[in-house]
Amino acid sequence: MKKLFIDLEACSKCKDCTVSCSYFYHPDNNGVTDLRELASFSLICRHCEDAPCVKVCPQEALEKQKDGILKRYNMRCVGCNSCVVACPFGTIYPELIPYLVSSCDYCLQRADGKPPLCVESCPEKIIRYEEIEQDPKKNYFAVGKNLIVHYIPWERE
Ligand code: SF4
Ligand code: SF4
Ligand code: SF4
Repeated sequence: MKKLFIDLEACSKCKDCTVSCSYFYHPDNNGVTDLRELASFSLICRHCEDAPCVKVCPQEALEKQKDGILKRYNMRCVGCNSCVVACPFGTIYPELIPYLVSSCDYCLQRADGKPPLCVESCPEKIIRYEEIEQDPKKNYFAVGKNLIVHYIPWERE
């Protein structure tokens, strides 16, 4: 099954994301930001047991899921950035938790065989759409069913 692949290591080095996305109503807030939020919660966050970010949120917009990975309810989030300040490891990046969110749907509706717009328009070619599976030896990790992320994850010893 074809999945979206994003090289988060390379992506983090790119200053401003200039990709096009099918969410044209939010041109400055593309679906890749949503993917990067999911990926960073999954692979960069330290998954604190008594998470300060969750405790400080005045809107109860952050939740630790059963697998320990954070989820942000963007309809509750008011963009106060308290969680950014509270995180002792600096793993919540303010630019990745925008108030307006364009949730990526992996362009699953594009049954025309064409790659998603982000793949076609990423100038660094770090987003791909291809047959790919999780492979920890290559630091390829599944984030949900439709996304594979390349990143060297933080792991608790
Ligand atoms: S897969 Fe589609 S919806 Fe998701 S970021 Fe790419 S273009 Fe946007
Ligand atoms: S930015 Fe959103 S998630 Fe973070 S503390 Fe504020 S309301 Fe909660
Ligand atoms: S405080 Fe930071 S490292 Fe800890 S769970 Fe929250 S975001 Fe992750």
